[in-house]
Amino acid sequence: MRSDKRKLVIGEDKSGDSVAKPRVQVINRQQLLLRTVDVEQLVPEDHEVRAIWEFVGRMDLGGFYKAIRAIEGVAGREVTDPRLLASLWIYSYAQGISSGREISRLCDYTPAYQWLTGMKPVNYHTLTDFRIKHKEALDELFTEALGLMSAEGLITLERVMHDGTKVKACAGSDSYRREEPVRQHLEAAERQVRELGDPETAEEISPKVAAARQRAVRERQQRLESALEELEKIRQTKSGAAAKAGARVSESDPESRIMKQGNGGYAPSYNVQISTDEAAGIIVGVGVTQAAVDYGELVSSVQRIEENFGEKPQQMVTDGGYTSRANIIELEQQNVDFIGSIGDGAAQIAAQMNRRGVDPAYYPGVFSYEPVTDTYICPCNKELRYDSTEEEPGRTNYKYRANATDCGNCSVKDKCCPHNAVKGRTIVRGVDDPVVIAFKEKMQTEEAKLIYKRRGAVAEFTNAWLKEKIGLRQFCVRGLIKAGMETLWACLTCNIKQWIRLRWKVKYAST
Ligand code: SF4
Repeated sequence: MRSDKRKLVIGEDKSGDSVAKPRVQVINRQQLLLRTVDVEQLVPEDHEVRAIWEFVGRMDLGGFYKAIRAIEGVAGREVTDPRLLASLWIYSYAQGISSGREISRLCDYTPAYQWLTGMKPVNYHTLTDFRIKHKEALDELFTEALGLMSAEGLITLERVMHDGTKVKACAGSDSYRREEPVRQHLEAAERQVRELGDPETAEEISPKVAAARQRAVRERQQRLESALEELEKIRQTKSGAAAKAGARVSESDPESRIMKQGNGGYAPSYNVQISTDEAAGIIVGVGVTQAAVDYGELVSSVQRIEENFGEKPQQMVTDGGYTSRANIIELEQQNVDFIGSIGDGAAQIAAQMNRRGVDPAYYPGVFSYEPVTDTYICPCNKELRYDSTEEEPGRTNYKYRANATDCGNCSVKDKCCPHNAVKGRTIVRGVDDPVVIAFKEKMQTEEAKLIYKRRGAVAEFTNAWLKEKIGLRQFCVRGLIKAGMETLWACLTCNIKQWIRLRWKVKYAST
C-alpha cells in the first residue's frame, strides 16, 4: 500500500509531507453522443414561451395562411407554420432580440426556441421575410389581439394616454446627401448595372454570385431613385430658396427624416406614435410617421383607435406637444375629452421676437391695450391702430400697426422693429375660441391636473419599455411601411407580455 501511494506523490507541502494528486473527471470532447430529449420538458409549465404559443394559437391567422402556396394533396415542400413564425418573433422581441439571424441561431440550442420549433431549424430568410411581407395580416393580428384583451377586461377606452417617440432609422447620419451627390451616385449605380450584364453569362464568378451582386446594385439604384423623389418632398416642406437648396436626404433609408432625439442630438428617424389605455397599460393604437413634430398626429391617433375598436376613446391625455388650439377644437367636435398641458405662448412669442431682432424691453407685453379706443400704446406713447383680422383654428388674431413715420423717426426703432424698413411696428391681439377658453379653465382644475400627472407613468412608461426591454431603439428594416410593421410586432409583444402578466400567469397560478 505504501509503495502504491508513493507513485501518486506529486510534491511536498511546506512541512515536507508528501502530497497526492487529486482525481478529477476527464472532459472528453472527442466523443459522439446520442441523447434522448423530451421536447415537452425543455421548458417548465409556466414558461412565457408556452403562453405566447397559446395566445397566438387563439388568433385567426388566416391572413398569413392564405399566402401559402403549398397545399395538402399536392406535391411540394411544406412551409414553416405562420403560428410558429409569429410566436418566434413575439418571443424574440420579448427577449429584446430583433435579428432574424440571431433567432435562427438560437433555434439550434436554446431550450425555449427548441420547444417552439420542436427542435427543427428555421431559416433566417424565412423569418425576416415573414416579419415584413404580410402587412394586412399583421394589422389583423394586432386588432384581433386587442379584441381578445378587450373581451378579457384589459381595455376600457375610458382614458387613453398618448405620446410619441423618435426611433432611429436603419441609416447612419452620414448617409444624408444633397441633390448633386445623390445624382452622381445614381449615375454610378446605373453604370454598374449595365456593366454587370446577364448573370447567366458571367465568366469569372458563378451565376448565383453574379445574380446576388446584380440584385444588390439594382436595390441601391432603386434606393437612390427613391431618394431623389423623397428629396423633392422634403423641399416642399421647406420655406426659402436657401433651405430648399440645402435640403438633404438619406441614401440608405430615403423615407426617414432627420429628427431631434431625446439626448438633444439629431439622427435619421421615424416618429412612432403610441396610444396606451390606462386600465391595464395595453397599447391600443400604433402609428409611424415622418413628421418631426407631434401636433399633427393626435387626430389620426384617435382615428386609429376608432378603426381598431369601432369606437373612440372617451378621454385622450397628451403632453404639450399635441396641445394645439386646432386639436382642442377637433377633439371637442369628435366628443373626445381632451386633457393636455397648454402654455401661455410666452416661449413662442420670445422666439418669434428674437428672430425679428426685437429687444426684450420691446416685447408685446410692454404695449398696453386701450379697449375704449381699440388701440395699443407703445413704450414711446405712440398709438397702434387696428389693421386687419386673421382667423386660425381656435383663435382670432387682430393686428394693430403703428404709424410708419412714428417708427421711422423713433430713437429706439433699432430695438423695437429693426427689420421694418417701410412699415410701422405691429402687435397681435389673439382672442381664443370659447372652446379653447373652456379647455384652459378645465386644465386649471385639480381633477385635470391629477389626470395629467398620471400620463407619464402610462404613456412614457410604454415608450421606455419599447426601447429598453423590446429593443426598439433603431429599426432593423428600411422604409416607412416596414418600420411601421416592425413597430407593430414590438407593440404586439408588449401587449402579450401584459396579457401574460395580468391574465395567463394569474389563471395558471389558480389551476
Ligand atoms: S419704433 Fe414705433 S412702436 Fe416702437 S417704440 Fe418707437 S414709435 Fe413706438
